[in-house]
Amino acid sequence: MKEQTCPYCDYLQTDHETLDGENNPVDGDVSFCLNCGEACEFKGERLFKINEENLDKETRKKFNKIRHAWLKVRARQSVR
Ligand SMILES: [Zn+2]
Repeated sequence: MKEQTCPYCDYLQTDHETLDGENNPVDGDVSFCLNCGEACEFKGERLFKINEENLDKETRKKFNKIRHAWLKVRARQSVR
């Protein structure tokens, strides 16, 4: 698996798991940045910024769940 950097924050992403739980993303898969919490699309082995408004409702729902969990973890870590 090639490494990618987040187009929003330049965070180096070495682990990729798609929303379907697969380890290798394919073109069109949506990626979530663990550093900044932004959504990206995987295309041609690179990550691109996407407009979340353009995602279908089901994908946005999944995405919001992931982001919600991510925010909780971040909030807990910030008060340690
Ligand atoms: Zn990022």
